Amino acid sequence: GFSSISGIPGVRERTLIAVKPDGVQRHLVGQIMQRFELKGFQLVGLKMLQAPEELLSQHYQDLRRKPFYPSLLQYMTSGPIVVMVWEGHNVVRTSRIMVGDTNPAEAQAGTIRGDFSIHISRNVIHASDSVEGAKREIQLWFHGKELIDWTCCNHSSIYQV
Ligand code: GDP
Ligand code: MG
Repeated sequence: GFSSISGIPGVRERTLIAVKPDGVQRHLVGQIMQRFELKGFQLVGLKMLQAPEELLSQHYQDLRRKPFYPSLLQYMTSGPIVVMVWEGHNVVRTSRIMVGDTNPAEAQAGTIRGDFSIHISRNVIHASDSVEGAKREIQLWFHGKELIDWTCCNHSSIYQV
């Protein structure tokens, strides 16, 4: 919940971002993380892992009946991913804008998918699509103890206190 950093509603909103196996293979982890850092969002959780199929099937539970689902799981287990939790005001919605359209062919230049990818099946990054979805996904990928509550020393340069 809200803690000492400020009483600004929504500042502690969190979202799950993942660099998918293609993003890791293409050495995009640093550039992707830098976009969130430069924006002003705060990193509160981070790990690299080979995603277990069971976890992915829960993560993508709403897509189970889609024709591309088997290939999606194959792709997502094809190599390591980097999963992270970013925090800040409106971070769920703003992250989706930074990430761009699901189909890179539709994603605006300047977005992560628009700048770094071409095909919908290799779109380099995941971002939660709602606050509720983010809560569910964060609980799926992280233990509570792995998420760090910390205060950024230049908070008042990013938010009006
Ligand atoms: P996202 O929230 O923008 O990632 O999009 P969705 O939640 O709708 O889909 C999850 C992921 O499934 C996407 O990021 C793509 O990697 C993949 N995906 C979605 N739609 C398609 C599709 O029509 N074809 C293929 N091959 N993959 C898709
Ligand atoms: Mg989605």
